[in-house]
Amino acid sequence: MKQIAIISGKGGTGKTSITSAFASLAKNSIYADCDVNASDLHIIMRPKVKESFVFSFNQKVKINQQECIKCSICFNVCRFNAVDRIRNNFYVREFSCTGCDLCRKACPVMAIEKIDNKAGEYFISDTRFGQLVHSRLNVGEDYSDRLIDDVKSYACNIAEEKKLDNLIIDGPPGIGCTTISTINGIDLAVLITNSSKSSLHDLKRSLELLKTHNIKASVIINKSNFNCNITKEIEEYCLENGISFLGKIPYDRNFTYGMLEQKSIIEYAPFSATSDIIRKIWEKILKL
Ligand code: SF4
Ligand code: SF4
Repeated sequence: MKQIAIISGKGGTGKTSITSAFASLAKNSIYADCDVNASDLHIIMRPKVKESFVFSFNQKVKINQQECIKCSICFNVCRFNAVDRIRNNFYVREFSCTGCDLCRKACPVMAIEKIDNKAGEYFISDTRFGQLVHSRLNVGEDYSDRLIDDVKSYACNIAEEKKLDNLIIDGPPGIGCTTISTINGIDLAVLITNSSKSSLHDLKRSLELLKTHNIKASVIINKSNFNCNITKEIEEYCLENGISFLGKIPYDRNFTYGMLEQKSIIEYAPFSATSDIIRKIWEKILKL
């Protein structure tokens, strides 16, 4: 099984649109939405959830009002202002609590207890393209890299069990922890960039990251006709640095029209020039 991650140096380059187009072309594959902070692959893939799992990470604390002697120590020691005083009672604000455990240790009467933190859920679903592993992170939760680990390892297990050929990952933007979790162990990174100065800058940072992790990189320029000079510059940069250049996709409204009908561009406009370009790119990816 080969792992292919579609990532980008910045958000809004068209990763999910292109991932869904690949999903329409791939065979014997499974998909993982690892852009857990802004997951949206499900909009096009229309998954039917088969199984769901609680994603618990870290523990928070809760004050037992019957045991509390209102000494206010917890209120004073919490550096995150997570303990609230309402009249004479103390409460922990769930969204602010980091689970550092200091208040529980400081409480003189052990009135504070640890509670499991349900940070989100992840799902295994059926789609018309194959199975999709996706997730929902709760508001204010900050363990997205751990959730990505869970999503990916579930997708890998299913792929190995079912002897699938590919795990296709819709990855996050940027070069932070979420991207590092996503690229861990992959066989090929497909970087989606646009024809703008900032995209080129971010592309270079992403390529640096992939280099330090020894991961094979390839590049697609989406909306390539916005600035032909930058497009040329990116192509030359890839050539000079031995990076596989997969192709250029011009701006095409069919991506958006297809999305409105929850379809990939391959499904919405199968005979368009853009769909032909994407088919050629997918063939190159399989060869890589
Ligand atoms: S430290 Fe313990 S006893 Fe004191 S206010 Fe907090 S919960 Fe109540
Ligand atoms: S566990 Fe830490 S962050 Fe949470 S309320 Fe106690 S001291 Fe504050």
